[in-house]
Parts: sequence; structure tokens; C-alpha cells
Amino acid sequence: MFLSFFQNACILIASMSIVQHFLKDKKISLDMSLKSKFLWGFYNGILGIILMINSVPITSETFIDFRYIPILFSALYSGFLSSIVSSILIGIFRFLILGISNISLVGLIIALLMGVGFGIISLLKLSKKNQYIYCMLFFIIVSIASSFVVSVPQNSTGVFQTVILYYPGYLIVSYLSIKYVDHILEVIKIYQRLKNEAAKDYLTGLNNVRQFDDRFNSISQMAIRKGEELSLLFIDIDFFKKINDTYGHNAGDTILKSLAPILINTCRTYDVVSRMGGEEFSVILLDCSESKAVKIAERLRKNVEENDFYISDNEAIKITISIGIASYPKLTSQIDNLLENADIALYEAKNSGRNKVVLFNHENNNNF
Ligand code: GH3
Ligand code: MG
Ligand code: MG
Repeated sequence: MFLSFFQNACILIASMSIVQHFLKDKKISLDMSLKSKFLWGFYNGILGIILMINSVPITSETFIDFRYIPILFSALYSGFLSSIVSSILIGIFRFLILGISNISLVGLIIALLMGVGFGIISLLKLSKKNQYIYCMLFFIIVSIASSFVVSVPQNSTGVFQTVILYYPGYLIVSYLSIKYVDHILEVIKIYQRLKNEAAKDYLTGLNNVRQFDDRFNSISQMAIRKGEELSLLFIDIDFFKKINDTYGHNAGDTILKSLAPILINTCRTYDVVSRMGGEEFSVILLDCSESKAVKIAERLRKNVEENDFYISDNEAIKITISIGIASYPKLTSQIDNLLENADIALYEAKNSGRNKVVLFNHENNNNF
């Protein structure tokens, strides 16, 4: 019997480890989407069924299992709907294996009761720990009450084994499982935060240069495959050193932060805006010809020129930017040369007076 208990605990732990792999880019919380709540409830329902199939024999005619622990997972981690979905699935499965009988009807009712009860407890504004305690109290009350309805251990050994082994066993296994799920969710959160930090620039929240490289490589491969145009903007703030020297480094940081939303809002939602380092930015313009790229770059230059950059509550200054553009395939036939050519065009914009947009063009390449 201990071996069966252990097996069931292993099934719970193993299933949570498997689900960790699929959840690592998802959000598990009470405010997740309806579809996710349904899926989480469905998954836990299946887990409950697997546990039911692996019932632990207590006496020759009595079996117990951990099927209500997955309902608990549903309720505590994603709320009422998931809890109900899991319990319906478990209740219906009992009908399928036991056929239509009083016992399976009682099984369905108890599963639904657990689903509704745990679900309601999950709606109460309590700490997770208290929700767990209330759920376990509810579970014990319902299972003791149900034992008067269904004939569970009649003899004293059966009663002893149920009280001494079943409830403490359930409490220990459910408590350890919840702790393990908490641990998994914490690991997922840390993984997601590190992944985000590795891809984002800490100051502006834009993509960092590493993410730019990844995105540029995949987008350029896709452009070649689909035969699409691709344009690249390199953007540099004019005389930024002077701004730092005059107003201080913090004011410079504030300007960098305020520039980011202007870049995002002026470009199209699917364009890739990155901070390349210092006061240099880039935009990958997907499926974009050179003439469209010039229009976007001009709009960007103008929006920055017209914007008031607040460096304190009542002091705003003006800045300008220079932009170099390279465009594939018309003006840059080798997609890998886009970066170098956008840089050459930016250099030309700086050399020819700043606050300018320059398009890299092979014909005047010799002039650069
Ligand atoms: P140009 O018009 O030729 O681009 O002149 P510039 O002064 O903008 O260019 P330069 O490359 O000489 O100076 C860039 C300055 O950007 C120097 C550096 O102190 C500043 N800078 C780089 N990173 C940061 C940052 O994270 N925050 C702040 N505030 N300043 C930064
Ligand atoms: Mg620079
Ligand atoms: Mg500069």
C-alpha cells in the first residue's frame, strides 16, 4: 500500500515536471485567458483520471486515490472555471469505467462538489495557504459525509486505516504537491524574467543589440525565402554628448527613455525597434521598400524634431536625430550588407549637416 501511495505521489510530481516544459513561456495565474483556464482545468482533469486508475487498495473492497489533488491545483492556480472543468472530467470518467450505478453517481456528485467547493474557496480573498487549509477541511468533511452514503470500510481495521493513513496521506501528498507547483511556478517566473532581461535594454525597454542580431538574422532569412523587400534604419541622436555635458547624465537618460516610445509609435507595430548601445537605435522595417522606408524615417526625424523632451517637471529641450537607411534588394543586393550600408548612410547624414535622412545608394557610394 505504501508503494501505491508512493507511485501516486510520483505520478503527480512527474506530471508537474512535464507541464513545466509547456508552461515555460506561458502565464499561470488567476487572470489568465478563459481558454488557458479551460486547458489547465482539462489537464488537471486528465491527471485526476490517471490517479483514479492507479487507486490504492485500503481493504479488499475499498480503494482510495488522489484524484481531488488535481482539482485543488486547478482551483488554487487558475480559479473556479478550471476547478469545475477538472471535476466534471473526473466525475464523467467514473461513469465511463463503472457504468451507470449508484456508486458512480455518488462519485460524480462528490467530484462536482469538490470542484464547486474548491472553486468557491479560490474566489475568497484569502492567502494561498488559507485557501489550501479551507479546501482540505472541505475535502475531509465531504469525504467523511460521503462515507455514510457509500459503504466504505465497515470493519474497525478499515476505519483505522482510512483515518490513520488516508487523511494524513492525502494531506502530506497534497501539501508537498502544492509546494512543488509553487516551486515550478517560481522557476518559470525567474526563467521568464531572465529571458526578458537577456533580450531587452534595461533603460528603454526596447530590444537590445543581442535581440536585434537574432531578429535581424531570422527576418532576413525570411525576406530571402519569401522574396520580400527589407529596409533597415540606423538612428543616432545629434550632439548627444553636448546634452549630457550641459544638462547632466540623468537628463541624457531621460531623453533616451522618452525617445523609445516615439520610435515605437511612429513605426508600424510589426517593425523591430532596438537600442544598439549609447544613443544609437535601429529599426528593421519588414516588407518595406526604400521609398516607404524614407517616408517612415522622415516622419521619425520630424516627430523627434517637434517633440518637447522634458528633462525635469518644467524644463523641456529639443533634440534632433540623423538616420541612415539601407534597403534590400534594390539598393543593397546582399542582405548581409544592410548593416554596413545603413551605417555608411548614417555617417553621410552626420557629415552633411545632421538632422537628416540619407538613403544608401550604390550610385553615390563612391561619395561616402
Ligand atoms: P554626433 O552628433 O556626431 O552623434 O555627436 P554625439 O555627441 O551624439 O556623439 P558621440 O559619439 O561623440 O557621443 C555620444 C555620447 O552618448 C557619449 C556618451 O557619454 C553618451 N552616452 C552613451 N550611452 C549613454 C547612456 O546610457 N546615457 C547617457 N546619458 N549618455 C550616454
Ligand atoms: Mg553615436
Ligand atoms: Mg550621436
